[in-house]
Amino acid sequence: MKVLLSEEQVRAGVQELARRIEDYYRDKPLTMVGVLIGSIVLLADLIRQISIPLRVELVQARRYWGQARRPGPLAVDLEVLAAAVRGRHVLLVDDIFDTGQTIAELIPMLDELGPASVRTAVLLRKQGRSQVDFQPDFVAFDIPDVFVVGYGLDYNDMYRNLPYVAALEPEELAG
Ligand code: 5GP
Ligand code: MG
Repeated sequence: MKVLLSEEQVRAGVQELARRIEDYYRDKPLTMVGVLIGSIVLLADLIRQISIPLRVELVQARRYWGQARRPGPLAVDLEVLAAAVRGRHVLLVDDIFDTGQTIAELIPMLDELGPASVRTAVLLRKQGRSQVDFQPDFVAFDIPDVFVVGYGLDYNDMYRNLPYVAALEPEELAG
């Protein structure tokens, strides 16, 4: 395992992200919606760096796998979200923007609930991986195309608790 972003670097990046979000949403009713599970660490640190009023919600986006073992549609329980989203400015918060598919599917679902706007904030964006025609609005770090863990990101449900971001070596990903 190789440290990609130290605890100090992550902290500085999150602080800067918070400043930009705070400036953008000043005087706008903000609802931050974290995408479970990976966003929880970022979300917890981020909201404590933002001093404008805001609401927090969480969305569990579960992907069903089709018979062809290809990723199927996202299943999301939108009922609980509706009241927190209607007429408000929504900021989706996720750990990492990889292909962009997850966010690309969540945005139209949230749009159905009548928000004032929907934007996206991520800790990490992987270079050269996007399969969608938009980019996240707030990005703390651009990283190379490596598999990362820590600060909410897991490998087989492990490593989410690391206070830094590390890249797993190919041999660590086997099995
Ligand atoms: P996307 O839909 O953008 O391809 O994928 C986003 C999701 O894939 C992230 O929320 C995360 O759960 C997972 N993911 C993508 N790249 C990585 C990575 O390098 N490490 C980990 N742990 N998860 C990743
Ligand atoms: Mg995720």
